Amino acid sequence: MGKMKNVISAVCVKCGAEFEASPNVTTCKKCGGILDIKYDYEWIKSQVSVKDMADRHENSMWRYREFLPVQGDSKVPKLRVGWSPFYQSERLAEKLGIAKLYIKDDGINPTASLKDRASAMAVVKAEEAGASIIACSSTGNAASSLAGNAAAAGFKTYIFVPERAPKGKVAQLMMFGANVISVKGSYEDTFRLSAEAIDRWGWYNRNAAINPYLMEGKKTVSLEIAEQLNWKMTDYVAISVGDGCTIGGVWKGFKDLYAAGFIDKLPRLISVQAEGCCPINRAIAEGRDWYPMEENTIADSIAVGVPRNPDKALNAIRESNGVVVNVSDQEILDAMKLLGTTCGVFAEPAGATGTAGVKKAIEQSLIPHDATIVTVVTGNGLKDPATAITAAGTPITIPPQMPDLLSAFPELK
Ligand SMILES: *Cc1c(COP(=O)(O)O)cnc(C)c1O
Repeated sequence: MGKMKNVISAVCVKCGAEFEASPNVTTCKKCGGILDIKYDYEWIKSQVSVKDMADRHENSMWRYREFLPVQGDSKVPKLRVGWSPFYQSERLAEKLGIAKLYIKDDGINPTASLKDRASAMAVVKAEEAGASIIACSSTGNAASSLAGNAAAAGFKTYIFVPERAPKGKVAQLMMFGANVISVKGSYEDTFRLSAEAIDRWGWYNRNAAINPYLMEGKKTVSLEIAEQLNWKMTDYVAISVGDGCTIGGVWKGFKDLYAAGFIDKLPRLISVQAEGCCPINRAIAEGRDWYPMEENTIADSIAVGVPRNPDKALNAIRESNGVVVNVSDQEILDAMKLLGTTCGVFAEPAGATGTAGVKKAIEQSLIPHDATIVTVVTGNGLKDPATAITAAGTPITIPPQMPDLLSAFPELK
């Protein structure tokens, strides 16, 4: 137990109280605030360097074990999470009028979203905690990723989703054998019921805001981005924001690398939300604390009116001197099509929202044309085919005759 040589403690982001980082640690016992895992960077530096990374063969998020809060003897899960593709897209960069644009495609994960990074971590920590049941509530992807990662590791799951969750994600839950509770209500209602049930039955909690380890899993996307950029950071990294755990994790990853001397520059974050649901960006724009908002967007994964991790998200945006951009549903649909047609990358709405934000930020001169940017595609479009068809349209249907083909495509003559 407790064999984490790289971890010092779990620190409350609100009141600064410090606790021992045991696998079951949840929120601050003093003020109820969210905890953050604190590392011993000198120890990390003594164990691993940029040079060592090039020789590693572990092509998954566990490549960065020295940066992760897992016990020395914990086994790497079977399902391969992370080390997702990283593309430079000259074509999209030119279209958007920006110097360099890279795409980190996290839709290429076992259950097709970035959430797998957190769920893989949840499975390891649940094992360390000696739990046999894991539970969460989710707008969809945390749920499907927990279901998949838990199935591979032999855990039972209870998973709460709002009734509106897209069919693809619900199909994943059923296929992975989760006990699914589809709640007639908003994500807020769903979260509340799951919290009560978790409390009552003592299940291992995969709710990302409550469990500080999950963000540590999510941060591996930044460790990979930095390595895939050969440790030369871009000026900006764009990400879509719902609960705020992802952007918090993204920032933590870059800060860890900076503290350990792996990178010599931190990027500025571009926090992108939907116009119809942007409580975090609104708080930044208004220079005040956040307050609830309706969940009014097609981007279901970020339709979060009461963010569960606002403190870390707001800290991340402020500390990075970040940029906030809100995009309309139409702009999200356009970005889905743009990613598909220029990059061959198929994103779900929230997966394309970061890219929609980059486009808008350039148009509004919030970022300069000579900037270099990474945009993270957080989830795959096949999860929600109905919205994809809204974005891309339906094909021409013709009778099986050559004249009909010719009249449908006059340019073929
Ligand atoms: C969960 C999710 C996000 C946002 O992450 P938060 O931690 O809720 O801010 C973005 N995109 C996709 C596809 C997601 O599933």
